[in-house]
This record gives sequence, C-alpha cells and structure tokens, in this order.
Amino acid sequence: MKLTTPPDVVLDRLDALRAQDAPTHGGHVLSYVYDSGEPELDELAAAAVRAMQPVNGLDPTTFGSVAALERDLVAFTRDLLGGDGTVVGTVTSGGTESCLLAVKTARDAWLAARGLAPGSARPRLVLPTTAHAAFQKAAHYFGLELDPVPVGQDGAVAADDLVARLGDDVALAVVSAPAYPHAALDPVADVASAAAAHGVPVHVDACIGGMALPFWPDLPAWDLRVPGVTSLSVDLHKYGYAPKGVSVLLQRGRDRQRGQYFATTRWPGYPVVNPTLLGSRSGGPLAAAWAITQALGRDGFAELAGRARRATLALRQAIEEIDGLRVVGDPVGPLLAVATDDDVAPHRRVDPHRWADATTAHGWVLQAQPAFAQADGTTLPHTTHLTVTPVTEQVLDELVPALRAAADTVRGEPRPEAAALLDPASLTGLTGLTEPSGAPDGAPIDSDTAAGLLAAIGLDASRIGEDGPGVGAMAPLLAAVEALPAPVAERLLVELLARLVEPRP
Ligand SMILES: *Cc1c(COP(=O)(O)O)cnc(C)c1O
Repeated sequence: MKLTTPPDVVLDRLDALRAQDAPTHGGHVLSYVYDSGEPELDELAAAAVRAMQPVNGLDPTTFGSVAALERDLVAFTRDLLGGDGTVVGTVTSGGTESCLLAVKTARDAWLAARGLAPGSARPRLVLPTTAHAAFQKAAHYFGLELDPVPVGQDGAVAADDLVARLGDDVALAVVSAPAYPHAALDPVADVASAAAAHGVPVHVDACIGGMALPFWPDLPAWDLRVPGVTSLSVDLHKYGYAPKGVSVLLQRGRDRQRGQYFATTRWPGYPVVNPTLLGSRSGGPLAAAWAITQALGRDGFAELAGRARRATLALRQAIEEIDGLRVVGDPVGPLLAVATDDDVAPHRRVDPHRWADATTAHGWVLQAQPAFAQADGTTLPHTTHLTVTPVTEQVLDELVPALRAAADTVRGEPRPEAAALLDPASLTGLTGLTEPSGAPDGAPIDSDTAAGLLAAIGLDASRIGEDGPGVGAMAPLLAAVEALPAPVAERLLVELLARLVEPRP
C-alpha cells in the first residue's frame, strides 16, 4: 500500500526523539534503567520481543506459548525465592501491578472471610512509611485504610512498631526487601511470625531486590522460605534486565491466589478471565524476561548481582569519604541513599540535592528524594538516591571522581529556600485540600490555576525537554514540593505531567 511516510523516515524521526533522552546504557542514569552491561542480553531480549510481537496474552489457551513462558518464569522465580509447590504465580506488567494485585487479593480474602460485601468495610493496610507508593495507589483504588508505620532515621522500621498495629481489621501487612528510598531490609521474619499469629497475611515487596538479594551474602531470611509470608512481588524489568513491562506476583496457596482473578460470563461477548488488571496483554516483555532467564540461569544472575554488589560497596565507601555527605542507614542490595552529614560544620556540609544537580552537570543523573514528615512528628531527611547496576562497576573510574568533584562545587551552599520560590499569597484558599489530587474536600484547583502556580516556580510543561532531559534543577523543585501541602504539590505535578502530553500547536 501507499504509505504517508516511508518507514526509514519514520524511524529517523524516532531516532531523533530518542537522542533527546537520558542515556539508557552505560550507567549514567542511576535510577529507572537497569543495564546488565552485556549487550548480547539486550539483543536477545529484542529478538524475543519481536518473536512474540503479534501474540495476545489475553488468551493463553489460543496462544499456548504465553502459558508455557509464564509457567517457566513462575518456576524460575519461585525456586529462586524459596517457594515450595504450594506457591503459584502470575506474570504482571510491572511492580505496581504486582503490588496492586497483592492488595486486591488480600482485601477480597479479608471481606470473604467475614462474609462482607465489597465496599461495605475498609480494612487497614499496615506498612512502613518507606513502602513503595504503589501501595498507596492500591489503598486508593481498592478502598483500604492506609496505616503507615514511622521508621527510624536510618530508614529501618522496628518490627515491634509494625506488629503493634496488627489486628482483626488488617487485610495485609507489607514489608520490603529492600525498601526503595534507603534500601532498608525490613524485619520480614519477625513481622511474618507475629502476623501469622494474628491471622494477617504478609506481602514481601521484593520488586527491586528479588533478583539480586538471593545472591547477597549473610542476609537473614526474607523470602518465601519465611513462614507467614503469603505473597511476594519481584520485577523482572529491574534486576531481571528485561525491557519494561514484566514482573511476577507469587502467592502462597492456590485458593488464596484465585481471589486475584476477575472472571465474568455475564455479557454477550467472550467469557472474560483476567489474572491481572489488563485485558489484552503483550507477550513481548514476558518473552524477553523468559529468554534472559534461560540464557543467564542462576549462575548468570549471581555473576551480575556480584558486579552490582561490588560497585555498590565501592560507591558506598567513596561517598562516606566525601566530606559533608553520608550514606543513610545500612543499605542492603544494589541501591543506597545519601544525606547531608550534619556532624560537620555548616561550611563543610553538602546538600544532597545541590550535589545531584552538580553531578548532572558532569553527565550523571542521580535521583532526588524529598524530606518526609512522619505521623509521629519525626522527619526523614531529604536524600539523593542511587540505584546501582552491573554496568556501574565498569564506569566507577569516571563516576567516583564526578561524585567528588560535584561535592566540591557545592560544599557549604545551603539548600534553596522554598519561601523564595513560592509566594504564599498565591496559595491562599488552596490549602483546604486534604486528599491526594482528584478527591479534594476543599475547592479543587483548576488546570489554569495549577499551570499558573507551576509557572511561578519556573516550570512550563510546554517547554520541558527543550534544554535536555529532565525538568531542570532538582534542588529548587524538591524544596518547593516539600514546602507545599501534599495535595497541592500532587495537583501541580498532575498538571505538569498532563500538559506534557497535550498536543502542541
Ligand atoms: C520499582 C518498585 C515498585 C514498583 O514497580 P514499577 O515496576 O515501577 O511499577 C514497587 N516496589 C519497589 C520496592 C520498587 O523498587
């Protein structure tokens, strides 16, 4: 047929757009992307995606390959994560979907055990404040009461604090292995044994750690070997090195897991049976993850985890040696968070967000995390997060000097004052919002007001991307995010992202 644009021209346009992205390979972006450092694995994944491109995972009886690949991936992760024959699983589109489904399963089991109709009660979801935001999303979507437990300044939760919240109205307790913000490994065994005594199921969120911690030495038991752990999530698009769109949710007990499914025969179309949130499903990321697990095997993952581990230890030591910075807590796994060392005099302190911005100027992208006020009145410091991948070991010789040089440039500079960025008058009348974006009990912020406020702090969605990847300096943006009431900050960020994809004139 006659095409409007020849394929090579279309692909040139795509290449031009991709050239504006932050680099996905070579370890220059220390979050979001997980580079094994082995190009042949990327080639293999691409070929597997291509082979599965036309398939629809919606119906594994019609496309038997989908079922076969899923069986193999469930078996591989179940063995790796200490599950026995009572553990069953599902491949999902990512960590968020795995976490959502773990919560939905637990909620439905809680309601069924009490003979309650959906929507007639709101059970609690107990979790440390460091649990991934996906669980807030789950509580929001599925009607649970979020019950966050404060953690210590090292980012670690005390088992007793979490156990004290358990009760008959708790549908699920969540622990992480490790938690994303500071890489704390939660006290899985202590929580799980107490929870089992209360009849409360426990989800281990091993989305980030699940393919790496099995190869970390000297860890306490944290996976499905621990009695009382009822489900576990592990992302294959992180340390499984697959393209985005693949995670596994493992659940203990067939009957429990069946509550994860949605099925209906009550419409004039085909009978619908969905194990996940999606209907039609790509077989691509599934096939890529399968191909990588086949090629690497356990030994290959061990080798790659070893590289990430050595790189993490080297970075931890190098950062501890930088005057004015400190690593938060005792990180477990290939990630860590960095805060200001308040033990040194102010002129020697390094602000972690100014440091991240200065590091970006050297060509390395670190992730800024805001300070966080917990329900008990304590505040976790603002930090900068580094996710370390196997390829990092190959580039330490460039990365470490860049981290040092960046610290030297900003040492002694205080954090930007949020008050200087935000005119309090412009916020008058907007602080009645108490719920996250979308469900205000005060006056809702309309799009134009939100865009105006964004412009006031220097963010114009119609210009993002013009000066390179990202939204510009993170230090002032994060200071503003922290200073605003959370519902207002959330509404502004929604506006920013929504305007980003509005067609441009
Ligand atoms: C990445 C991550 C998630 C969410 O996963 P997505 O794949 O980004 O949806 C959940 N929990 C933890 C600990 C994570 O690191």
